[in-house]
Amino acid sequence: MAQTRTETLIEEIQNLKAQHNAVILAHNYEPGPIQDIADFLGDSLALARWAQKSSADVLIMAGVYFMAETASILCPDKTVLIPDKEAGCSLADTITEEQLLKWKQEYPDAVVVSYVNTSASIKALSDYCCTSANAVKVVEAIDPNRDILFLPDFFLGSHVIRMTGRKNIHLWHGECHVHAAIENETMLKKVHQNPGAELLIHPECGCTTRALAIPPKEAHGLVLSTDGMLSYARNSEARTFIVATEVGLLHRLRKENPDKEFIAAHDEAACPYMNMISLEKIRDALRYGRYEVKVPSATREKALIPLERMVAVV
Ligand code: SF4
Repeated sequence: MAQTRTETLIEEIQNLKAQHNAVILAHNYEPGPIQDIADFLGDSLALARWAQKSSADVLIMAGVYFMAETASILCPDKTVLIPDKEAGCSLADTITEEQLLKWKQEYPDAVVVSYVNTSASIKALSDYCCTSANAVKVVEAIDPNRDILFLPDFFLGSHVIRMTGRKNIHLWHGECHVHAAIENETMLKKVHQNPGAELLIHPECGCTTRALAIPPKEAHGLVLSTDGMLSYARNSEARTFIVATEVGLLHRLRKENPDKEFIAAHDEAACPYMNMISLEKIRDALRYGRYEVKVPSATREKALIPLERMVAVV
């Protein structure tokens, strides 16, 4: 039987990977076919850790631009390619270097904590980076008497304030445009329509940090990292789960748990940037060595410090 176009593309990708000693790192929110060919699948923190450990010469980042920059900062000797250089992040774009410098001038003694969804130049101006999985721990490790500038995600920052009880955290009012329009009422409706279902909330992306604003009396949500969600779903007795995250994760949850039902808390929560990556573009990235992401060394040296702190805090 003749090969399908997808099969041909996958074969081409595998051959090119072997030829260039390359690996594909895919974010959990990538479309299903990209997840299926990835050498490693994970969230931002896991991808960063894995990039550091890999012995490959070429890293193909099937994700968004700041993730490729992070890999370049952590692995300066590897070639980092992003298959579509327009795959940005609207949350990362909510703060510029100039804006951060001005904010820092207003609070000269403050500690700057940046969510990993930021550009390399913002990381270079930060004291700590964090993911949603370790944001609370990072903030708890900072002297309680120091002011903190937390950026760019307002929802994650609000969650950190709630969890730590600190009064001296100043929040940047950034949000992910994809999910900003989605109201919590939509999610609550799903919860009310599916009594008995467990609500899994992933705080990694802009979409789900909104979910953290749901009062516990309305829905008993479990805040879990992607890996936490995957292992929780595997081991839980529950049959139905409402998943508050970018819809790409449902592919993996369903694949790993064919006997369980997973309902998207937000059907529209699909990131257009994540969805820019395709098999064709991955094939072309490998074939033509494009598009290389190389963070300049001056920025890299400064950005490495907060990033290493992020990777070190579990
Ligand atoms: S979903 Fe939003 S926050 Fe997440 S990568 Fe896409 S644009 Fe950025």
